[in-house]
Amino acid sequence: MFGRMNRKYDVVVLGAGPAGLGAALGALDAGAEDVLILERDEEPGGILRQCIHAGFGLHYFKEELTGPEYGERFVTKVLEHDVDLAPNSYAIGLAVDSDGTKEVRVLSEKAGITTVECASVVLAMGCRERTRGAIRIPGTRPSGIYTAGLAQKFVNMMGYLPGRRIAILGSGDIGLIMARRLVLEGCEVVGVFEILPYSNGLTRNVVQCLDDFNIPLHLSTTVTYIHGRDRVEGVTVSPVDEHLKPIAGKSWDVDCDTLLLSIGLIPENELTRSMGANLDVVTGGPIVSSTLETSLPGVFASGNVLHVHDLADFVTEEALRGGAFAGEWARGIRRPRDTIHLVAGNNVAYCVPKTLSPDRMQVIYMRCKQRMQPARLRVGELLERKLKFVVPAEMISLKIRPALLEKFHGDRLVIDIVPEGS
Ligand SMILES: Cc1cc2nc3c(=O)[nH]c(=O)nc-3n(C[C@H](O)[C@H](O)[C@H](O)COP(=O)(O)OP(=O)(O)OC[C@H]3O[C@@H](n4cnc5c(N)ncnc54)[C@H](O)[C@@H]3O)c2cc1C
Repeated sequence: MFGRMNRKYDVVVLGAGPAGLGAALGALDAGAEDVLILERDEEPGGILRQCIHAGFGLHYFKEELTGPEYGERFVTKVLEHDVDLAPNSYAIGLAVDSDGTKEVRVLSEKAGITTVECASVVLAMGCRERTRGAIRIPGTRPSGIYTAGLAQKFVNMMGYLPGRRIAILGSGDIGLIMARRLVLEGCEVVGVFEILPYSNGLTRNVVQCLDDFNIPLHLSTTVTYIHGRDRVEGVTVSPVDEHLKPIAGKSWDVDCDTLLLSIGLIPENELTRSMGANLDVVTGGPIVSSTLETSLPGVFASGNVLHVHDLADFVTEEALRGGAFAGEWARGIRRPRDTIHLVAGNNVAYCVPKTLSPDRMQVIYMRCKQRMQPARLRVGELLERKLKFVVPAEMISLKIRPALLEKFHGDRLVIDIVPEGS
């Protein structure tokens, strides 16, 4: 029920984005009876609420939906299944009792600070954007500098324009989508500047958001100075060398009143860290096993809080599984411990989960470090797959069936991405 929060549940889910909504449904499917979703915002849906463009649901529903439409389908389902969904309820702490019972501390508009008890928890708090401080751009500190997602919230949810003449630093998906959005709103987007020699967004977004709107993408280029006293008056941009250092004497000035930053996302893990869960230094999310369980027994994680995903559909798939394992846990089912360690080998930045078990189907998500075209993905000597190309911006997923692991008798499985033909 919307707005209801009791004192005791089988499973409590933190966050009502696609991960939290999927996890709640997964928990119910696995037999959990009482499930609560806590959401700090006034409405469920997470980032989907501000993504009014199409492009969601192509994998999961085999149709193209906007973000709010995609979210609405899951909100309707969780409410139909009598999940309690508590908006304006911020999870601020989690303690584990000696008998394994979890106590989630909640700050809510209605009840102040309260505690909810449960058998298992799913972390689904999403991620947040990196800001100017993270990359230390020199210059003045005028108004008119926004992260791209915040600008998206202004335009799509609040009806404000961030400015008129926009420069965008970073070519992550949010920046690309906002470039198109702002042109449609009548702004001039003077360029997208990307320090790497390739875009950090999905290829489909480069084509549909920049190429189709004649917005220039300057690769191997970065902003080296911000000008303006009260308001941004322009930026200096410079090409960079192979070590990503600006090349002296080659910079030029760009006239703009707004700078949007699309320079990466960080899993929202202050709470996870404060609970004492082990975090992965590469993803910034918790380290999880093949059941998506963190190092804290009975605490599971899914979605962008675990590792930043490109597509909501993959978040849903992962969260349905994470939620199902949390549901099983609440019913007292304990899966055998994983026995195989996954190792990120050649050209693999990370893989999630970190361990596998030969007794169940599992999905490995990974990202490459560098572009390779064409490439071959190798999982030890068990599996090889040809890939047309790999780029860090596009996550790779791989289903591993138990039958495949039956042939494996070691305890370390190395995943490599190598050039095709090597
Ligand atoms: C600009 C943009 C464009 C995108 N475009 C596409 C696209 O075209 N197609 C596509 O498939 N995907 C797209 N995505 C990706 C997709 O939206 C995300 O991958 C997905 O929303 C992540 O889901 P999540 O549930 O992990 O996180 P979120 O959607 O961020 O949800 C997390 C929720 O947790 C809540 N929360 C956080 N901390 C707490 C706490 N302590 N207590 C209670 N609640 C908390 C937050 O308020 C939020 O509602 C886009 C993303 C962005 C940002």
